[in-house]
Amino acid sequence: MTRAALLLLLASGCSSGTVWHVDERFTASERQDIARGADLWTAPVDLVFDAHVSAFDMDRRVIVKVDRATMEVASDLAKDNPQAGVTLGHTRILLRTDIKTPLWYVAAHEIGHGLGLDDLKDPSALMYERPGDNPGCISVADTVEFERVNEGLRIRVSCSSESSL
Ligand SMILES: [Zn+2]
Repeated sequence: MTRAALLLLLASGCSSGTVWHVDERFTASERQDIARGADLWTAPVDLVFDAHVSAFDMDRRVIVKVDRATMEVASDLAKDNPQAGVTLGHTRILLRTDIKTPLWYVAAHEIGHGLGLDDLKDPSALMYERPGDNPGCISVADTVEFERVNEGLRIRVSCSSESSL
């Protein structure tokens, strides 16, 4: 872990929010995009950009949730998957950047899955089943789903500063 990452970890604390380790291979601008996507979820997500990846994991991007004891990286499951992002259980997310959908949006949606949310039928939801159709807000539908699967936790409706894709 780098010194900066350690400081961030200490600053964010482990008692509130969920700490996610993010693939160290993301570029600075990609990190900004991912952080922007995570910011939509406000308190539940803290990112630390230092997850080490296997030398064999050539073209994949990984976010690892580490609020439990074990930390795993990478999987072959999405190797040839054309989707923008894939959530593997509640621990690993693969993000790809070779698509038109903005990375921050893909990150926000897949982090939502990582927080336990399913795809929703409501087009206003960030978790809408067809990515790209909403303006990048945590909608009422998202908050209802979040609070259903995360008992005792509350989240508020919020939007990114730039409201269009
Ligand atoms: Zn989805």
